[in-house]
Formats: sequence, structure tokens, C-alpha cells
Amino acid sequence: MDHLRELAIREAMFEYLDEMVAQSNDGNLSWEQTAHFSVAGELIALRQTRGRGIHKPRQLDAALSISTAFTGFGRQPPYEDSIGEDGYPRYKYEGTDPNLSTNRALRMAMECELPLAYFIGVRRGVYRPVYRVYIAGEDPLRNEFILSFARSEVGLDFTTLTAPEKVYAGRMTKQRLHQPLFREQVLHAYSSSCAVCRLRHTELLDAAHIIGDAEDGGEPVLPNGVALCKIHHAAFDRNFLGITPNLVVQINQRLLDEIDGPMLKHGLQEMHGGTISVPRRMDAKPDPYRLEQRYEAFLAAS
Ligand SMILES: [Zn+2]
Repeated sequence: MDHLRELAIREAMFEYLDEMVAQSNDGNLSWEQTAHFSVAGELIALRQTRGRGIHKPRQLDAALSISTAFTGFGRQPPYEDSIGEDGYPRYKYEGTDPNLSTNRALRMAMECELPLAYFIGVRRGVYRPVYRVYIAGEDPLRNEFILSFARSEVGLDFTTLTAPEKVYAGRMTKQRLHQPLFREQVLHAYSSSCAVCRLRHTELLDAAHIIGDAEDGGEPVLPNGVALCKIHHAAFDRNFLGITPNLVVQINQRLLDEIDGPMLKHGLQEMHGGTISVPRRMDAKPDPYRLEQRYEAFLAAS
């Protein structure tokens, strides 16, 4: 294997992806943008064209990227499969034969500590590129590779991790891999508009967690999400704005008593007592139990 060439082509890929991501408004790329890139006039395929899979372009010996196909809105991605007990993400072998050429190519990326790109299907024909990703280890019993975001973790003994290390790894995995998908699911379910004020500008919208991702029940799943604009998201997170389990907006009393400019008046005070708009689909609605738990925190802070 030509190690320098493997590295140079990867650097060119990351540079290309940096450029494409900078041009996008949400960090996601189209099917075409993730098809190929060029190095010195030579076209190199970026990912497996079938959606999910390990990709080794013919110009290289080790795998260059991995992909996960979009599973459809409303269908939760199999998080249990994609995150280990140690908090690190997993990627299944192609098939069950560890010596299939694609699995060997991914193993080679591990042995040579080569960085890869991970393309996560977030909508039909839309991918979120996550890079740099390393193959840090392998679990042959479960037919899977262990992923990491740090080269220094390649070859790590995952059985000796402490509890805080596992918690930290789990948070990293959620932030880097699950958050982009969560955002797409929530924004789609809420028709890309703020549940409180109906603002419809994707660039100004967030997928807010009802229960924070560090807490029990804080998973990045639709029943724990609500689409909020930046200002209502910040107000919700800081308990200036609460949502009752019956979906009624409550504004903190101190804020209601305050006198200030139009943002306070129209953006917050006038929202008091209104009802948030939620998706029609049952499985996409916010979970009333999570809302109740969260509303108690709002009351306690008032
Ligand atoms: Zn809003």
C-alpha cells in the first residue's frame, strides 16, 4: 500500500468536503455533491452508491468512506445497533464474512490509522458528512467495527474504559452522529416552522430537546423533540418559556412584568397562553410525560 498516496487522497477529500459544507446552509450535501471529487484531474468516487456501505475506490487499497442510508421519517434509526455499551459508535460488517473485500478494506484503514468520511443519509438523497472518522477497533463476535473521532483512539482497549469515559464517548457520538439526523426528523415533522411562533426559516430553526441530552429520557428521538426558532429555543432552555403537557405556552412571570422593546412584547409576552403547533402524526408528537417533567423544571425555576 502506498501510505502517502492514501493520505494525500484523503486530505483532498476533506478539503473538498470542507468547501462543500461551507457553501451549504445546514451542513448537509446533495446526492451529486457526495458522488465524487477530483485529485489532479482524476475523479474519485466519494461513497458507496447503494446508500449504505463501505466504499473503497479503485485508486486506493483501504476504505475511504462509510455510509448509512436514510431510513425514512417516522422510522427511528437503530441507535442501539449503532452505539456500543462503551459509548462508541459501531458500524456493521458488510454481510457476515469478516474477510469480504469491503470489510478487509475497512480493516486496512484501521491498521494504517487512516481517516475516513462517514456519510449519513438524513433525507432522501441528502447526506451529512461526518469526518474525520477512524476505525478504532473491531468486535468480530458482533460482526462490527468500532468507530472513533480521534486517531489516538485507534487500537484502544475498549474494555478498560471508566464510567465517565463511556458517558463522554456516548455524548460525542450523539452530538456528531445522531444530532444531524434528529434535526432533520424534527424539522420535517414540524414542517420547518417554529412550534411557538410559526417562523419558517430553516436557518433560524433548531430541533430542541424537551429533556436535555445528558439526562435520562434525553434521546435524540422525535417524541423528545420540538422545532423552535433560535429565540424560543434559548428562552425554553433558560426557563423563560415553558410548555405545559397540554401544549400551552407559559412565559415566566418576571418576563411578563418587564417592559422592554418589541422583541419582548411580540416575541415573548404575546406568546403567553397560546398553544404550540405539533405534528398530526401520533408518533411525531411531543411526549406528554417528557413535557410534564420539563414543565416542572420551568415551574421550579420561576
Ligand atoms: Zn419562534
